[in-house]
Amino acid sequence: MPTRRCPDCGVTMEEATTRTSDGFELHLVTDEPKDGLLGTLGAKEKLKPTTYVCPECGLVRQYVDT
Ligand SMILES: [Zn+2]
Repeated sequence: MPTRRCPDCGVTMEEATTRTSDGFELHLVTDEPKDGLLGTLGAKEKLKPTTYVCPECGLVRQYVDT
């Protein structure tokens, strides 16, 4: 994992996990069609973002592996 820095504070952001109150992890659904058979059926690619929190100001950012 690359180190993420807060754009406001310049400190290293801490990795966190975002979940709903039901315990489900959040996914990012893009407009990119998924490869393979399911793609032809209209399935969209799902990406799992990594969440980072700034310990100084509380800024939350999410990144997906690209
Ligand atoms: Zn900050």
